[in-house]
Amino acid sequence: MRVEFHGAARTVTGSCTLLEAGGTRVLVDCGQFQGEDELERLNRAHFRFPVPEIDALVLTHAHIDHVGRAPLLVRQGFRGRVICTRATAALVGIMWRDGVKIAEEDARRGGPPAPYGEHDVIALERAIETRRYGEEVRVGSGARVTLTDAGHILGSAHAGVKLFEDGRELVFGVSGDVGAKGRPVVADPSPFAKADCVQVEATYGDRDHRDGEASLAELLGILEKAVETRGIVLVPAFALGRTQDLLYHVNLWKNAGKLKNLAVYVDSPLAIKITQVFRGQPGAMDDDVKALLSRGDDPFTFEGLTFVTSHDASERLPREAHGAMIIASSGMAQGGRIRGHLAALLPRESTEVIFVGYQAPGTLGRRLVDRAQVVRLGGREVPVRARIHTLGGFSAHAGRRELLDWLRDIGDGPKRVFLCHGEDRALESFAAAIRSELGFETVIPDLGQAFTL
Ligand SMILES: [Zn+2]
Repeated sequence: MRVEFHGAARTVTGSCTLLEAGGTRVLVDCGQFQGEDELERLNRAHFRFPVPEIDALVLTHAHIDHVGRAPLLVRQGFRGRVICTRATAALVGIMWRDGVKIAEEDARRGGPPAPYGEHDVIALERAIETRRYGEEVRVGSGARVTLTDAGHILGSAHAGVKLFEDGRELVFGVSGDVGAKGRPVVADPSPFAKADCVQVEATYGDRDHRDGEASLAELLGILEKAVETRGIVLVPAFALGRTQDLLYHVNLWKNAGKLKNLAVYVDSPLAIKITQVFRGQPGAMDDDVKALLSRGDDPFTFEGLTFVTSHDASERLPREAHGAMIIASSGMAQGGRIRGHLAALLPRESTEVIFVGYQAPGTLGRRLVDRAQVVRLGGREVPVRARIHTLGGFSAHAGRRELLDWLRDIGDGPKRVFLCHGEDRALESFAAAIRSELGFETVIPDLGQAFTL
């Protein structure tokens, strides 16, 4: 029995974990790397494991840093099954096609050829088997997989993989991303009932988030001021999850008679498609959303909300919007329509830019959060006069305290904890906390490193 780490090792993105037992191979997630050029080059590289021998690919959730390299697997001979929840299945095809579109556009602009295409996505979609939380799926003679709710985004799961070899049995739990408790739209995470070894994400392993209520109050204050001064609040947001969370909150405020005159623009064709999928998956939502829906209130629709589709309308927004919030992707401002808005609006003192998610090193988002005075955008130098805010309380990831509680709740406690999906500082700090508070053995794997279980 063994585990190999082929992504999110000493970095936050690229999740990809290979488990092997009794001749069966299960790959959990196959995500894209994001950030520094050197890291992103890995998105085109050959996998360092025998791809045709993978029996099943398990997807914990549809975020691109967990699924983005899967079409590349097909290119390199993958013919196995794809196992995920129904909501993830509804979302992941949209994410893959968006990835193909971005890669093909890059190629047209003189970049390297797209590493995969639409037919690779179709092959993956055909291989998808959807499973409910708690249902055990047999994969060959060496593995059985059970998904449980990770409370991170719609359809997200922890993957519990039971491994069998030579009469031995071992449960290896892969956290995927662990949700923060009390998040809108999704339920709270449900830790493994039993796991001998665990791979846990540690994006925020070195810190606790500010109280969600405080972040909400701060956002409300910024939006109220924008209405008053007719300014623009710009929010770079992941099209999947964070955008819908923001709409959910503004809908509640509008219901309560606040922000009456605030205009909200969702300027991301991807976010629009995804919001449509959310509407089609009421069963995957938490009780709060179900209650709203049963009263006839769509949490992702309200007065003053516009979904922007055309490029022209998007380009006009910085000139024409007043007293408005513009939500656009990508969340780390590496691509997408947010870049045009930043180029136009960063030089204005009246602009407020709000970051609501993790910003990887090397991204434009990270440079802005780190208080760059000037940034390069669209081939020119853009001065930053806008105010930059980071609202940690909107994170869809558990903070340090919640991650420790999540580990503590695993029945009997794991013998070994592999820490992934974090920057070095977060990983080291979280490993020390696990050892001192819980007494579990901790390992921080390097990229490509393998361990016998
Ligand atoms: Zn995620």
